[in-house]
Parts: sequence; structure tokens; C-alpha cells
Amino acid sequence: MRTQGMLSIVASLGLALWLSDASAQLAPSRVNARNDLSTMAREPFKVFDNLYFVGQGEVASYVITTSEGHILIDTMWDLPGYTEYLLNNIRKVGLRPRDIKYVLILQGHRDHFMGAPALNDILNVQWGAAEEDWKLIEKDLGEYSPPRDIVIKEGDSLTLGDLTIDFEITPGHTPGTTSMRLPVYDNGVRHNAYFHGGTALRSDDPATIREFIADSERIKAMAGKEIDVQIVNHYDITPYGAPDLFQRARLLENRKPGEPHPWVRPGEIVRLMDELIADARAQLEAAEQN
Ligand SMILES: [Zn+2]
Repeated sequence: MRTQGMLSIVASLGLALWLSDASAQLAPSRVNARNDLSTMAREPFKVFDNLYFVGQGEVASYVITTSEGHILIDTMWDLPGYTEYLLNNIRKVGLRPRDIKYVLILQGHRDHFMGAPALNDILNVQWGAAEEDWKLIEKDLGEYSPPRDIVIKEGDSLTLGDLTIDFEITPGHTPGTTSMRLPVYDNGVRHNAYFHGGTALRSDDPATIREFIADSERIKAMAGKEIDVQIVNHYDITPYGAPDLFQRARLLENRKPGEPHPWVRPGEIVRLMDELIADARAQLEAAEQN
């Protein structure tokens, strides 16, 4: 029943977009190597006591749990099977989709928000994204866009039960890329995570690139002090020499008592930021020559 509903939404969404605007950007999503669930389905897993990976092999969704319900981060694709895949992953880690209170979209690219219309039909949640990326989402989804319940701004925070998330707007990947600082717990031991909403710089505007560099310098300065865990939303965005998300998940699964959690590596946050800063400086130089 639900699958049927989702499919008809997806079909009519594609038709509506096709009729309303012939530009390539508004075309319905198509299956490709990055989003084909026949090869990209992955087992979900618990990363921390209050953080679960429920995404696929290329792009992530996460569930953050609190004492008063859950927060879903990003929604992946609109292709057939995705809604049930995501909801089943949430169930597989022992959580109930009906306990989700908020869905936050950290960037206005399709692999992060196209699942939203179908989820909005099923879940009773509040939706959040930053102003600039709400515009991208609404431009693409039109009347099927989820409601603008929350417009996330720099310095905002969201408290649900025992958890508070602090937001930062970190433009560069998209104009409103949203990052989060939140506590995560490893068998009750607190760590402080920086969840970056989009580490790949996709701008040739010098002012935006400078802001991206300044944000990266700021995040780097927090490593080992205010933050010791880095979370990103694509599987292979890790510092050089570090395993990707799924290799790291195996390290976590096979961890012996007393060994450190494989996500708690503040030195890697520094190295990742150094890489981002070096690349961004090169892009800035190129942008300023144009
Ligand atoms: Zn993106």
C-alpha cells in the first residue's frame, strides 16, 4: 500500500516537473552507478550510542536518537524502493520510524533531499534546512517540497529531549550547506562530533571560497579540543590513509574491549581540514585569475 503510494507520487512528480520546466536540472532522477540499490544497498549500523548509519554505499542518511524521539539526517533518492529501504534500515537497527520527530537536510543536492516527498507522506515530522538550500529544494520539488518548518540559521540550535544540536552554515558545496555539532556517546562516554554537511568545494566565487577556507580553519582549530569525531555524508570522504566508512565500520565491529573507537581520531580531522584548505586555496587562486 505504502509502496504503491510512493510510486505514484514519484511518477506524478516526474511528470509535473517535466511539464513545468524542460531544463535538465528538473528532470526526474535516473538510476546510475551511485544510486542503484541493487548494488548500493548496505547493512545499517550503530556508530555511537545515539548515532546510526542508515544510508547506502555512496551517500549517507543517519539517525540521531534522543530521549524524546529521533532526528533523521538527509533522505537520499526518490528512485523506486528507496523509501522502504530507508525505513527498513531504521527498523533493522532497532528504531521505529514513527519516533522520528525531525528530518534535517544538510545540503540542497538531490542525493540528500529527493526522498523527502515520499517520507513526508508517511512520517509526522518537522522539516529543517537552511534558507539558501530550501530554495534549491523547492525549485526542484515544487509543490511536492516538504514544508519549511525550520529555516536553519548560523548559530541556531535544536533541542530534542536530552540532546542539543548546534548548527553552523558552511557554504561552499552548496550556498546553504549546514553542519552540526553534537555530543555522541560511546558506551556512555561522551565525545563531540562535527557533522559536516558538504566537504567538497563546488564554487568559483572567491568570497564563498574564502568563507569555506575560514570555516575549515575554524573546524581544524577545534579538533582535539571542542571536537574529536568527524562525521561526513559520503562514504569515501575521509582523510588520506584512513579507511572508508565501511572499512571503519568493520573496525568498530571487531573492536576489542579497551580499544579506542575508530571514529574518535581528532588528528584525522586536522588532516582532512588541511586537505580541504589546500585544495580550496588552489581553487581560490584559479578563481581570482579569471
Ligand atoms: Zn552534494
